[in-house]
Amino acid sequence: MGSSVIDRSMVEQIVRQVALEYLRKGANGSAPVLTVQTSSRHMHVCREDMDVLFGPGSELTFDRPLFQEGNFAAKETVTIVGPRNRLISNLLGIDEIPIRLSGDIAGTPGAIIIGPKGVVELKQGVIRAAIHAHMNPAEAAHFGVSQGERMKLRIGGEAGLTFNNVHVRIDKASRLNVHMDTDEANACGLHLTKDIELFK
Ligand SMILES: [Zn+2]
Repeated sequence: MGSSVIDRSMVEQIVRQVALEYLRKGANGSAPVLTVQTSSRHMHVCREDMDVLFGPGSELTFDRPLFQEGNFAAKETVTIVGPRNRLISNLLGIDEIPIRLSGDIAGTPGAIIIGPKGVVELKQGVIRAAIHAHMNPAEAAHFGVSQGERMKLRIGGEAGLTFNNVHVRIDKASRLNVHMDTDEANACGLHLTKDIELFK
């Protein structure tokens, strides 16, 4: 009786190990390559606001591709006016911009957005984007993390530092890629080093 049970559990164990190895190495047999990129100020815009800001039926013009497949930076720009009625270049005039993930905007400050064709008043939506790591399920398995978990990102080099709250964002269409803002990139001297490590 015992032998077949033992055999099966051994087989299951081996299968699990192989599957784990496979996930760890990624589908092509190597560890996922980590890239870190800087997101400068940008706006996520819905169809309705697009119509107001850039004209009915207007479309965004491709400027350059972004790392995530199908995403691109657009040529169109807007001007933001904060609560102190200042036209913004670097300072928004908002004292406390909350750090959030994109889309998580409940209770955040608003602003006036000026486009070439019209003006939109946002009741909320101004955030400082939280540092985050995009990855697909296989890459998440490699790190042993799940959606919403936080990881650490160690940046080496002379100005190096470790970010302790890198939000995990898992999507089938993603490939491994950390997004930080320009302040964070400048603080850690991101452009000065290739010694970068993402870990749990
Ligand atoms: Zn991102």
